[in-house]
Amino acid sequence: ASFEDAGLHPVMLANVKLCGYQVPTPIQAYCLPSVLKGIDIIGIAQTGSGKTAAFLIPTLSKLMGKAKKLAAPRPNLTKPWTREDGVRAEPLILVVAPTRELATQIFDEARRLCYRSMLRPCVIYGGAPSGEQMDELRKGCDVLIATPGRLMDFMSRGHLLSLSRVKYTIIDEADELVSPDWVEEMRNVMGGADANADDDHVYMMFSATFPKEARAVAKEYMSKDHIRIR
Ligand code: AMP
Repeated sequence: ASFEDAGLHPVMLANVKLCGYQVPTPIQAYCLPSVLKGIDIIGIAQTGSGKTAAFLIPTLSKLMGKAKKLAAPRPNLTKPWTREDGVRAEPLILVVAPTRELATQIFDEARRLCYRSMLRPCVIYGGAPSGEQMDELRKGCDVLIATPGRLMDFMSRGHLLSLSRVKYTIIDEADELVSPDWVEEMRNVMGGADANADDDHVYMMFSATFPKEARAVAKEYMSKDHIRIR
């Protein structure tokens, strides 16, 4: 398997080369064709396996082909935002990660892979003031990378963020996120996207281990023909 033969959007293929990636890692070799076909995935993979690119490359590549049609309208930033302007951010890809460090890492990779495309990634996380993150959302957000607490906070503020257009939901380090502290939030995220989802909504969960809580969430929300990649 090679990136050239994977059927990627030309902009994505160029960005993959710019990142210095020559050949897909094993998890990427399995994920690329499956995600491009719209199949749900459970990936059992450690950090270092290239799992971030495994979910970013195919999902971003898909959207690049439809960016003109799909990308959220960019707001007029010269005038203040009002409720009448509608929801500030309606991402197409949602990535949930347990920590600020991981979220920031995923964001950095997303930024490199979105280079010269119409897609704009944003990252939101707790332990930092919300104002700047809100301003970034308002500039346009096609790809949202979020920690669960800040995501719930922004969701609860109504007109800030809507998951109704999300086509790809990715849960990274799912074993951390299905701990008793977070499992309800996870259900909200999965269910929130699902409630508005059409049939081609794709779910991906990545984790080093798959405890039974994670399997339960996967079973509840993923399509029956999802695949497991180890
Ligand atoms: P991750 O497992 O997502 O944390 O990625 C680990 C590291 O591997 C990151 O620094 C990536 O930039 C790098 N990486 C991802 N995919 C490839 C690839 N196909 N070839 C070389 N390096 C890669």
